[in-house]
Amino acid sequence: MSVIIATDDLELTCPHCNGEKLEIINEERVTCSKCDGKGVILTALGQTLLHFFKKHT
Ligand SMILES: [Zn+2]
Repeated sequence: MSVIIATDDLELTCPHCNGEKLEIINEERVTCSKCDGKGVILTALGQTLLHFFKKHT
């Protein structure tokens, strides 16, 4: 049995920067602090898996 997980299940477009990877602070464009400049954030499932892999590798 194989488990197929779509990327959409693991990551969401960052709602803070809308996937722009940047936010504007004091009228300056800086790396989005919420997604760390990735433009995406992990879902609960993504975090669970990440935690699992960190523990087992
Ligand atoms: Zn962001």
